[in-house]
Amino acid sequence: MVERAMALGREAESMIRALALISAEEGHLTRLYLTPEHRLAADLVRRWMAEAGLDVSEDALGTVRGRLAPESDGRNSVQRLLIGSHIDTVIDAGAYDGALGVIAGILAVREVMKKHGRMPFGIDVLAFGDEEGSRFPATLLCSQAVAGRFDPAALQVESVDGVKLEDALRAYGKDPAEIPAAAYEPGEAAAYVELHIEQGPVLEQADEALGVVTAIASQSRHSVTVVGEAGHAGTVPMNLRHDALTAAAEIALAVEALAQRNADDFMVATIGKLSLSPGASNVIPARVVFTVDLRSQTDARRIEAMNWLREEILAIATKRHVTAWIERTHEAAARPCDPALQSGFTAAIGGRDGKSAIHLPSGAGHDGQAVGAMCPIGMLFVRCRGGISHNPAEFTSVRDMGLAVAALIKFIESFDPARLGRRRADD
Ligand SMILES: [Zn+2]
Repeated sequence: MVERAMALGREAESMIRALALISAEEGHLTRLYLTPEHRLAADLVRRWMAEAGLDVSEDALGTVRGRLAPESDGRNSVQRLLIGSHIDTVIDAGAYDGALGVIAGILAVREVMKKHGRMPFGIDVLAFGDEEGSRFPATLLCSQAVAGRFDPAALQVESVDGVKLEDALRAYGKDPAEIPAAAYEPGEAAAYVELHIEQGPVLEQADEALGVVTAIASQSRHSVTVVGEAGHAGTVPMNLRHDALTAAAEIALAVEALAQRNADDFMVATIGKLSLSPGASNVIPARVVFTVDLRSQTDARRIEAMNWLREEILAIATKRHVTAWIERTHEAAARPCDPALQSGFTAAIGGRDGKSAIHLPSGAGHDGQAVGAMCPIGMLFVRCRGGISHNPAEFTSVRDMGLAVAALIKFIESFDPARLGRRRADD
């Protein structure tokens, strides 16, 4: 079994290498949505799917679909298991983010087919094209379309190189009028699962190759403004200052403490951008604007935390004789992973020693967020070295990839649509 997993890992690695060569820049990996590189990558994925024995098609947003029909086309067998990830990248990306999930899906379905022939349910392997949002100011359009949630207004968004999405689609050989046909019929998709590198250090710290995802994190971004009063750095005594930066610093520490207190809900908070004015070494800062990115496993805990923070900001501002306020600029609800799918992955990882798998939320967004509007979702994380991603240093070992593909095979073998909760589309 270990030998087989290693062989699959080596195969995944060589496919990862082949896909990583398709880039807009030599020596760096950059593959943006609806570019010539996207076309080449999609063609390679199509070839792999066809070689694995899948029926290949492509929808109007460029999502490549490799389809394995169910063992009979009878009434009970129309449901499909969707396995997907994305083939676009960020600028100067790593080779594993997205690509591994698509490749693992192809390899796993090929192995299942070799061993069992067709399954009682259909299987679709999906390669989405715009998960990263690196070219257009929109993300998950491909997965939204598959879920029947594509907003036609998105056709008007303009790329960083000044091309409207609608025109980029036409140049890619697609007809935007056909986008609605990308959607699955109601009830057709039994579940969506995705295998992805963790993009964080939790599995490595725990010395585990694989982990079961509990939810795609609840997330919000905010802008905090602190207004004090500029003054001479040499003449205004400390007790008479209205220093916007020291107030902002106290708020920053409150934000950090807030996330630390909610660590049981995997809360993380980041102040990634800060500007101050006037910005001179001998002037007391008058105005500071900074961002707060807050993520948590559950919506309720994140909202509760934000309410607390709003009060705390007011209290700190009052104490320090400045004014301060917080505004929300972005919000995305958590997308919980289905308990039955989590159990399926836990069993697939667990082996025979009964050791329970690690469970962790995904702090990063994924296509499952969009597909989850249509059907239950599940995710399997694979350890990546140093937790590094969105970086050429991204790395996952052959062994870990092999174990991941082997787990996905086990998951498919014991997948039963009837065991999933009857969940209706929720948005
Ligand atoms: Zn990704």
